[in-house]
Amino acid sequence: MAKLKKLEDFRAEIDQCVKCGACRAHCPAFGAEKHEGRVARGKVALADALLKGDVDLEEKFLLDMSQCLLCGSCCAQCPNKVHTEEIVAATRREIAKRKGLSTFGKGVGTILKHQGVMNTLAKAGGAFSKLLFKKIPDQSGLRLRFPAPFIAADRTLPPIAAKPFRERHPEVIPGVAGQPRVLFFTGCGINYMYPDSGEALLKALKFLGVTVLIPQDQVCCGLPAVSAGAADTVESLAADNLAMLRRCEYDYIVTACASCHSGLTQIYPGMGAEFDEFKAKVKDIFVFLVEQGLPEKLAELPKADQPIKVTYHDPCHLRNHGITKEPRAILKALPQVDYVEMENAASCCGLGGTYSVYHYDTSKKIGAKKAASIADSGADLVATDCPGCIMQLQDSINHGGGKQRSVHILDLLADALP
Ligand code: SF4
Ligand code: SF4
Repeated sequence: MAKLKKLEDFRAEIDQCVKCGACRAHCPAFGAEKHEGRVARGKVALADALLKGDVDLEEKFLLDMSQCLLCGSCCAQCPNKVHTEEIVAATRREIAKRKGLSTFGKGVGTILKHQGVMNTLAKAGGAFSKLLFKKIPDQSGLRLRFPAPFIAADRTLPPIAAKPFRERHPEVIPGVAGQPRVLFFTGCGINYMYPDSGEALLKALKFLGVTVLIPQDQVCCGLPAVSAGAADTVESLAADNLAMLRRCEYDYIVTACASCHSGLTQIYPGMGAEFDEFKAKVKDIFVFLVEQGLPEKLAELPKADQPIKVTYHDPCHLRNHGITKEPRAILKALPQVDYVEMENAASCCGLGGTYSVYHYDTSKKIGAKKAASIADSGADLVATDCPGCIMQLQDSINHGGGKQRSVHILDLLADALP
């Protein structure tokens, strides 16, 4: 059974932090709060102290450890490549082992581990949508009508799909002979909240003649449970997904969610060698589409008379793994898009899994910077490659009074294809 690393497994990496502070300027949590406990070296020092038994799990320690978006921006700038995001996640697991999970962590664990519960909740949310949510006047999202635990009253939410994406399709959608066979790892965001982006992906793959597999027994990648410190849940989900991946036949596994991509290519392989053969097959959808020559095919389509100005937000979990060019290549090739690059495209949007649940005010401050960059770019739309980022970007734009919309690149791609 695959196991997540324990905090003690990071001993050598913790020792590699030389306290240089190069990470400070790039930490969104520090940028919003200017507090040393928020920055990577402070967290690495606290993890070190916990391992040495020099610190108790008092309130301040727990607060500092909760104040991390696991965005990895620090590691990208670190001369010794210290993975603070992994050290913090391991520290949260250690906290959960000693103190038990938080109420929210327990809830996340229960819902994610039981796909049937998640389906039932999602369907109930979709069926009672009008009762539960009200539309924001400009229709760019929904708000809860009633107070609910862990969801701020002023947060913009996407609608919940009346029928989850995976239930709409057979397991195999045949393509053209000779073209690749691709397993679509949908992720929860597309399955329950943004099914149209999943439909857009199918349209793009059909355009290329690709055979698509949509296994019904795939489950959440487990990233929300990583953020919550719920080790058992992550390990159980990884085992279920491993069984599903072993059962099916395919050339590639595609994701349209940065978190799922990170789960399949970074988190799972760190849990055991049994994931290595699958890691090599995982591709972000835009990497796959570029490799299949889609930009060249898009270039043959007639250009729109009045293109829409679109900018791009880099999800942390793709930027950290060097996937920055391919989403832009597809966007720039779209006939209806006038692409503009924004300042700080690669900065975190402020969601950070459980971070925006526990620290919504700081999350909003981080999001406000991003919303300002979007507005300054002059774009009408901000496109990205992660359902979580889409939700957070729209929330940030709405708080700033902006009129822009956040969308998945796939939605724009589907509009362009015949
Ligand atoms: S992972 Fe992100 S939020 Fe956490 S310390 Fe590093 S830069 Fe800061
Ligand atoms: S985490 Fe890396 S960049 Fe930050 S203080 Fe330590 S060594 Fe320097």
